[in-house]
Amino acid sequence: MSPPIRVTIWNEFVHERQNPEVARIYPDGIHGALAAALGAEADLAVSTATLDEPEQGLPQALLDQTDVLFWWGHAAHDAVHDETVTRVQQRVLAGMGLIVLHSGHWSKLFKRLMGTTCALCWREAGERERVWVVNPGHPIAAGLGACIEIEQSEMYGEPFGIPEPDELVFVSWFQGGEVFRSGATWTRGSGRIFYFSPGHELYPIYHHPQVRRVLVNGVRWARPQGRAADTPRHVPVELARERIVARGGTVHDAEGRLAT
Ligand code: ZN
Repeated sequence: MSPPIRVTIWNEFVHERQNPEVARIYPDGIHGALAAALGAEADLAVSTATLDEPEQGLPQALLDQTDVLFWWGHAAHDAVHDETVTRVQQRVLAGMGLIVLHSGHWSKLFKRLMGTTCALCWREAGERERVWVVNPGHPIAAGLGACIEIEQSEMYGEPFGIPEPDELVFVSWFQGGEVFRSGATWTRGSGRIFYFSPGHELYPIYHHPQVRRVLVNGVRWARPQGRAADTPRHVPVELARERIVARGGTVHDAEGRLAT
């Protein structure tokens, strides 16, 4: 049996400690609910981290031992240090998978990795959301039906200021009429990134079995593939795979002298 996928769930952990209604829905924190959603899977080894821990919960040693990182943030985006963002970004480029949830679209990390505004429009009215599967052959949609029905959700609407996704997996419809690209993927360096928008803290969305299915599927899709690129790297002429023969002009010989 192959080793388990090492998952770290990072949560700013602010709303649950400030708003009793959020604490009622997520008594163990949003990170606790996400860990419970993943914990039953035999191929996953799950741990959690929060903003108030040393090194903002994301020391290099933990990132180095993480295959897939979840990111949930909203109230404390500005409190995340640029150095923390850089550490995570470098691990993504080296192959770590990243799953950004809901209001994480506005995190420093997601904006850094996307390079665009990541802005959207929103409305909090407890309206119905239908998360339509637009790519039923995609591994992240495995086991789902035509759509996921979420009885109460926060509306996120287009235009969404993201670069063109590599793959679009979900498009959401909202009761008020808007639509939104609610599940999309990109690759940055050697790392896979999945953004999934459902997850407003005042609705029990991470207890929804089909939402949990998406999270599990997302981990298995985002796990590291292959290896990190070993660049930049100078390749001296002695290590060239073939002898390089001058085709006009000049080249260096094996001692570095110019040959004519
Ligand atoms: Zn929200």
